[in-house]
Amino acid sequence: MSLLEVEDLKVSFDTPRGTVRAVDGISFAVEAGRTLGLVGESGSGKSVTSLAVMGLHRGAAVTGSIRLSGQELGGLGERELGTVRGRRIAMIFQDPLSSLHPFYTVGEQVAEHYRVHFKASRKAGRARAVEMLAEVGIPEPARRVDEYPHQFSGGMRQRVMIAMALACEPDLLIADEPTTALDVTVQAQILDLIARIQQERGLGVVMITHDLGVVARVAHEVLVMYGGRAAEQAPVDRLFAAPAHPYTRGLLDSLPRLDDTEDAPLRVIPGSPPSLISPAPGCSFAPRCARTTAASTEEHARCLAERPALGPLAPGHQAACHLPLVPEGARP
Ligand code: SF4
Ligand code: MG
Repeated sequence: MSLLEVEDLKVSFDTPRGTVRAVDGISFAVEAGRTLGLVGESGSGKSVTSLAVMGLHRGAAVTGSIRLSGQELGGLGERELGTVRGRRIAMIFQDPLSSLHPFYTVGEQVAEHYRVHFKASRKAGRARAVEMLAEVGIPEPARRVDEYPHQFSGGMRQRVMIAMALACEPDLLIADEPTTALDVTVQAQILDLIARIQQERGLGVVMITHDLGVVARVAHEVLVMYGGRAAEQAPVDRLFAAPAHPYTRGLLDSLPRLDDTEDAPLRVIPGSPPSLISPAPGCSFAPRCARTTAASTEEHARCLAERPALGPLAPGHQAACHLPLVPEGARP
């Protein structure tokens, strides 16, 4: 049994223009002490997936199974879900400033959930906050615990968010683009901090990002999402060494390289993400896929007519593509 098991998750919601199928049948597992990188462009469904896991999908229709240490979260009431969110699953976001309250000290905010869930006194809460600020590497925690969010830099605020998330000792941390707003050096420090704490606590982590550089740094397993579906799933080394889906390949090709000159043009995958309201039949990546353009007429027709299912390529490695980029004969 894995720490988190998600099976055939579907999330949709109605808009005046039609039903948006934001997540359309994805499955994954996260083990204790491991990080799953959830990768995709904006609109790929990665944030919606994490909100569904947290039970924060108000107004959306959710089907499928979400189990935490074997316990199905789908049927839980709001109260029980509140306890799961506060104590067993924690989440951090891209923008700590919008998640921190400007009028309360960081210490009060770090201690808040802890005090509620452990019925701790103000004094015990403050002591816990100092301890947590020290754990996430904030200097002089006993003094800074009484300061306000605006007195902290962006990187330090993200450390405060991590302290807040971990104060109740959750089993699972969901981090949604936690370093996107930070400069590269601070970004690396925060990712290293999350990795260190994960090792020390045996925490399961879901790292949501559009950046394969972040994935390379922290993830053990990777799920690449496209248009609300899984494009490819693989252990991280395998994904980088032998990407099978043309979309993954495109993401890898758009990573900045060491030999790039400063004015080198940014490599991006041409085209835009697919419609989630009335998706075309066939493969949703087809309008952007160089591989199908270069394929034979029959192969190209199949890409346009038949939606590719996730198929196995190697242990732990699957891709949803009719023409996966794997060496001849490697497909079972
Ligand atoms: Fe490209 Fe066809 Fe594979 Fe889709 S199924 S990614 S269109 S090759
Ligand atoms: Mg997002």
